[in-house]
Amino acid sequence: RCLEIENILKLVEENNIEFIRVEFLDYSNVTRGRTIRKSNLREAMEKGVNFSTAIMSFDVFDTYIPDPMYGAEDGDFFALPDPQTFAILPHRKNTARMLCDLVDENGNLWKGCPRGALKRLLNKVEQVLGGTLHMAYEQEAYLLKEVDGNRVTADNSHCFSSVGVDIQERFVQDFVFTLEEMGVTTEQISSEYGPGQLEINLKYTNALKATDDQVTFAHTFKQIARDHDMIGTLMPKPFSHLAGSGLHTHISLFNEHGENLFKEITDQKGLDMSEEAYYFIGGLLKHGKSLIAIGAPSYNSYKRMLPGSWAPAHICYGTANRSVLVRILEKRRERRFEFRGADGTCNPYLLSTCLIAAGLDGIQNKIDPGDPILEDVSQMDEFERKEKGIEWVPRTLSDALDSLAEDTILADTIGREIWTEFIKVKRNEWNKFCQYVTDNELKLYSDMY
Ligand code: GLU
Ligand code: MG
Ligand code: MG
Repeated sequence: RCLEIENILKLVEENNIEFIRVEFLDYSNVTRGRTIRKSNLREAMEKGVNFSTAIMSFDVFDTYIPDPMYGAEDGDFFALPDPQTFAILPHRKNTARMLCDLVDENGNLWKGCPRGALKRLLNKVEQVLGGTLHMAYEQEAYLLKEVDGNRVTADNSHCFSSVGVDIQERFVQDFVFTLEEMGVTTEQISSEYGPGQLEINLKYTNALKATDDQVTFAHTFKQIARDHDMIGTLMPKPFSHLAGSGLHTHISLFNEHGENLFKEITDQKGLDMSEEAYYFIGGLLKHGKSLIAIGAPSYNSYKRMLPGSWAPAHICYGTANRSVLVRILEKRRERRFEFRGADGTCNPYLLSTCLIAAGLDGIQNKIDPGDPILEDVSQMDEFERKEKGIEWVPRTLSDALDSLAEDTILADTIGREIWTEFIKVKRNEWNKFCQYVTDNELKLYSDMY
């Protein structure tokens, strides 16, 4: 670590960096942090930067929830910048950023740290799996502009039309080059189904870096959009009549010879997948509802996952079928699958951790995922779905949290403290939204009654 610290200090000197943003994510996936002067960087990297433990329990309204686990009296944790995440911000003056692990006053990983939970799991899981997990996050996002105080899509492009990418070319290039200079590799850019909606695919890498990359993606998307006088948003369902934005998570497993351990051409089910891959999927389906609580943890998330929307509305798996929760990619590509149940409001460290833990449960307990579903699940009638044992995804945040509250395997993986506090913070969000009386409600009910 000493050597790493010296290297970072050298980079800071050589590149005239004056300010370093030290950042971490709270349970609502809001970025918290401070900007420190370069003269303080050595100390920050050696000891960490102190924060009140209470700030982890703020909700999305930026208010302190009633009855938090970490109160004003519970002291501090220390955000310890990880040298591996040092990136110069090419779009900002003399500024770099570092992502942090949260440690306690003895320098040990703090029990409330989401990135720490992922690191802890990865340390033991790869031995059990006999390989390295590869992940790639695939985010969809809208570009908006404000007209007369209303937020509308920034353009009127159509799905996969090259017009959409063309109209936003200046933004897209600026964004992609910025990510690349920050060490995040992009693969392709498409105009998504909604007007002004884009998808930019990141290259797969090890699970920790892939998750850090998603954090970088999310921050940078919003920053560059703002620089171009737009609002970039990962919000799951900005408009009820337009496509939602998902965050699909790709998972694969490779051994040290670079062989794909999820591939097996003698597969009985005919999908060229190994037994391990099926069991992994079995675990994802078994924990499906609580994974959705972690991956889609906002009031707005549940407006996205509707039948016929290409976002999953049911818990099952299939190939080349966009209505399922876990989709295996076409045979012509390397064997991997994507979890389609998450969106950009989740804390990606918690999501990666829980997806891997669920998969591991599947492998260790040989959970059979059953047969793949090849037809559009939303076209089946309720009876047919019942016969096939296909359940709905939770219909609200509250239902999803009820499932998570029963999931002791995920609780033990992320740690009981994070689990308890996450559920509390998110229940608070649900309760607050339920108390709002909307304009539509007022109009309808006051006419009728
Ligand atoms: N927008 C869809 C979602 O919310 C996904 C569309 C696609 O498969 O690219 O998940
Ligand atoms: Mg897409
Ligand atoms: Mg996808």
